[in-house]
Amino acid sequence: ESEFFEGRELEILALGRSIGTGEKEITAEVIEVKNFDELKERQKEVKGKIVFFSRPHDMGTVNTFQGYGDAVNQRSQGAIEAAKFGAVGVLIRSVTTKHDNVPHTGSMNNYVDSLPEIPAASLGFLDADFLSDALKKDSILKLKMKLNCKTLPDILSYNVIADYKGTEKSDEIIVVAGHFDSWDAGCGAHDDGGGCIQAFEVLDLFKRLSIKPKRTIRCIFYINEENGVKGGIEYGNYADTTREKHIAAIESDRGVFTPVGFAVTSDSLTLIKLQNWLPILEYAGIEWIKAGGSGVDISQIKNTQALIGFVPDDQRYFDLHHSANDVFEEVHPREMELGAAAIAVMAFLLSEEL
Ligand SMILES: [Zn+2]
Repeated sequence: ESEFFEGRELEILALGRSIGTGEKEITAEVIEVKNFDELKERQKEVKGKIVFFSRPHDMGTVNTFQGYGDAVNQRSQGAIEAAKFGAVGVLIRSVTTKHDNVPHTGSMNNYVDSLPEIPAASLGFLDADFLSDALKKDSILKLKMKLNCKTLPDILSYNVIADYKGTEKSDEIIVVAGHFDSWDAGCGAHDDGGGCIQAFEVLDLFKRLSIKPKRTIRCIFYINEENGVKGGIEYGNYADTTREKHIAAIESDRGVFTPVGFAVTSDSLTLIKLQNWLPILEYAGIEWIKAGGSGVDISQIKNTQALIGFVPDDQRYFDLHHSANDVFEEVHPREMELGAAAIAVMAFLLSEEL
């Protein structure tokens, strides 16, 4: 409702775990803030309004995962922070590096028992710009917000696991992994269907080339990475109790773009050992191996010697991530295959040399 913008529709997408608005719509004024500090400063203005968190992914940050991390708390925690001051709904600017109008979703933290549950959605980047400009012209405009999303009860589901048996130490495991759940706006081609294909491709490459590793190479398609990591946690519990020994794990969950490096969580001697393999991995386009976080799913496995995240060029990942842009057409087969080759070489070295 606005003197100037009556009838203008905005492109939105519900955030994961948001409640819906039921049959009715929410109609409310909007307060735009950049972050939680500003929300707190202006808390007296929040009651009964929709809070619009408009902070963009900082395009000045070279590492896009860093930029994403700096902006994403408005998605994960915005509805909870806004509810503290009596907001009736939340909109966020999509956390994206692409300035189109496709909204990007992702999980919210669980609602807090002591606070009202309010619905939350992301806006397409261009519509976030529009709303920001519109509020400057008409600060008392009202938005109607309707979300038909709901969270259904959990049902039984599974990780999918395939082993390529080791010839000498078959109870010693090298995991190669992706996750095969995804947000539903696209088809999860980069996040993380492609990562699953790369993990599976490792087994297929070994088979086609008749490579017989000493240790067992285990491909895991994890379930529920996006909405609670239940598959990862369950496999971590299994790894704790099995007599199998988990030597190392590699996860591909940063898009299937051109390979760049491997981020390793290990002790320093193991890291140096892996770094000595770089001349071999350079054949598959790997430029560096350094200390860093591995991946959400494999990091649930304790007591490995090395947890390794496959790192491709990340400049386009957040154009697609968690949105309708994440489709097969965006996957470049050659880039994906190069990544599979890099992971296969790393898996072989881990099996034979670690
Ligand atoms: Zn993912």
